[in-house]
Amino acid sequence: MAVRGSCLCGDIRFELTPGDWMGHCHCSMCRKSHGSAFATFVATDPGTFRWQGGARNVGRYESSPGTFRSFCERCGSKVPDVPASGPMYLPAGLLDDDPGLRPAMHIFAASKAPWHEISDALRRFDGYPPGAGDAVPFTRRSEAAVGTVRGSCLCGGVAYELAGPSSGPIVNCHCSRCRKARSAAHASNLFDEASRFRWLRGEELLVSHKVPEAERFTQVFCRRCGASAPRVDAARGRAVVPAGSLDDDPGAREELHIFVGSKAPWHAITDGLPRHEAYPPGPYPPPSRRA
Ligand SMILES: [Zn+2]
Ligand SMILES: [Zn+2]
Ligand SMILES: [Zn+2]
Repeated sequence: MAVRGSCLCGDIRFELTPGDWMGHCHCSMCRKSHGSAFATFVATDPGTFRWQGGARNVGRYESSPGTFRSFCERCGSKVPDVPASGPMYLPAGLLDDDPGLRPAMHIFAASKAPWHEISDALRRFDGYPPGAGDAVPFTRRSEAAVGTVRGSCLCGGVAYELAGPSSGPIVNCHCSRCRKARSAAHASNLFDEASRFRWLRGEELLVSHKVPEAERFTQVFCRRCGASAPRVDAARGRAVVPAGSLDDDPGAREELHIFVGSKAPWHAITDGLPRHEAYPPGPYPPPSRRA
């Protein structure tokens, strides 16, 4: 049965018949590209995949030789890349219909973010599952500066730093906009004070897409690699950092799930963190804890 998917701005639309595999990937490239704790993919036969619109807005970034990461050049959603051969892997956060499948495993669990704990009982593999090939090594060491926390996009063109460990929180948002924007189960965002954030390079690479009907929902991303990037909300004095883009351990940890009333049908929340149907009680974004 065909299922539909689309990007955040709605320009890119497609249809496919899901294959028989769905899984979560914790590799650092997925975390950077999606800006979340992990990315989730559905495998499909490229022969069943059809663009329904927007194919000319697809940007491609070669993240490792022969492997491309595609994204909507307008809104920064991570969209499917049609490979020259073999199965294709679709970012599940884009799906508008229930694929019928459920995630079977975690891959690249050895590369998971220090601020995220895997809490379900699914099988875990350090890299690819046996027989699925060798991992492509990818590490971007922080350009260490004592006491700061750094982050960067997938291509490395955009980089930033926070003035020392962050008091957080890291919030997982399951709203449909975050799921589309990050093309993942949820967004994982680190909140900090705008005054503690600074760009190191690449501001000229940033594209900002505000959802027209939303009060302030904006996705910022790198125009070269499509990776989600921080957004500085000067009016509120807050920086919103896609936690997957961090190169260093920020000190802060995941603390809550919000908009669980809108979560993807294929995703189960299994940790013990507080959950809120929509916004948490009190002001949002979460106010500074340093005041
Ligand atoms: Zn789009
Ligand atoms: Zn990955
Ligand atoms: Zn980039």
